[in-house]
Amino acid sequence: MDPVSVRPMSTNFFTADVVRGLTIAFGAAALTVADTPRAMPVVEQCLAIFSSVVWWTEGFNTLDVAIQSGLLSAILICAQHTLSSAAPRGICFLLRYVIGPATAYLESLLHIAQAYSVLSDTISNPIVAPASPHQSNIQIYHGLQSDGPISQWACDNVLCSHIQPKSDFKRCSGCQEVLYCSTQCQQIDWQRGHRRYCALYWTSGRDLRLSFTSSERRFLRAVVHKDYEDKRSEISQTLVTRWAANPAAEVMTIFDYRASELSVSLHGISMTGNGQPGSHWPDLLARASQSRGRLSLHVLMVPDGNGGRVVVAPLRSAASDFHDGLKMLAMKGIDDLLQISDFVRICHSEEVHCL
Ligand SMILES: [Zn+2]
Ligand SMILES: [Zn+2]
Repeated sequence: MDPVSVRPMSTNFFTADVVRGLTIAFGAAALTVADTPRAMPVVEQCLAIFSSVVWWTEGFNTLDVAIQSGLLSAILICAQHTLSSAAPRGICFLLRYVIGPATAYLESLLHIAQAYSVLSDTISNPIVAPASPHQSNIQIYHGLQSDGPISQWACDNVLCSHIQPKSDFKRCSGCQEVLYCSTQCQQIDWQRGHRRYCALYWTSGRDLRLSFTSSERRFLRAVVHKDYEDKRSEISQTLVTRWAANPAAEVMTIFDYRASELSVSLHGISMTGNGQPGSHWPDLLARASQSRGRLSLHVLMVPDGNGGRVVVAPLRSAASDFHDGLKMLAMKGIDDLLQISDFVRICHSEEVHCL
């Protein structure tokens, strides 16, 4: 079996059955709320158990089961029959921290979008609106479908960072994770430090493949790239401010997808322990600091049981122009957003996210 098609997380038949049963119970309880408002505490109880099971299950696989069992219909019935403007807290939690964030996973997104399309007549209910991020992610998915299979990638010799179709690269035969445009680039990176980290790249790559299919990785890259483009001016301005205060500051950008609204923030590179996005992380830090902006540390926090999972999707640039330009602005003490926006528009080098 193709290893990338395996989703071996903690989902098992028992969990799927429990979730299916809870969804059906929730749906049945929701139907009684219209005639018997006193049934609401029962619905809340169903929701609390349900949310815990889905939230603590890695990969959100169980959410797909719930949606196929009529979860969104049950939420809508509840929302329509709730007399006050305040939705039950259980529903708010479910929409904000379970259904909305799950749209970062391609399979869940497709299930959610399908359920929404069936319910489109009633979906205008404002209570259900927090789960709407699926609209923009569906557009990204359709964009990927129409763009075809060509996937751009960057050479893993950070001094080169040549960007071209992934199929044109040569793979490191040891880890199968890093790609080079030429034998010379492979030799340079081997001497630079890959020989010490090759085995750790293999471990990190295997863990990632066990958690995300290749389609999901491609989709997640497209999502973070769009979000980066949308927030580029803000991120650039924060960088300039940081570098004005400390020209040697090294930072990573965190894209947090664990709630329905995306949060983007810059942090010093001090992530350790459980927050580390893979055993090859120290080498990524070294490469980022040697790259002069050709490798930016973009870190994704995705919902994945036990609160979340950290995945690194470095932004690779073919040239250092943009990075050097921001450093120059910082040195001159220019931190006006308008000027930076102009700068972003003018200085657009070829960029790609790798995951
Ligand atoms: Zn190269
Ligand atoms: Zn290797």
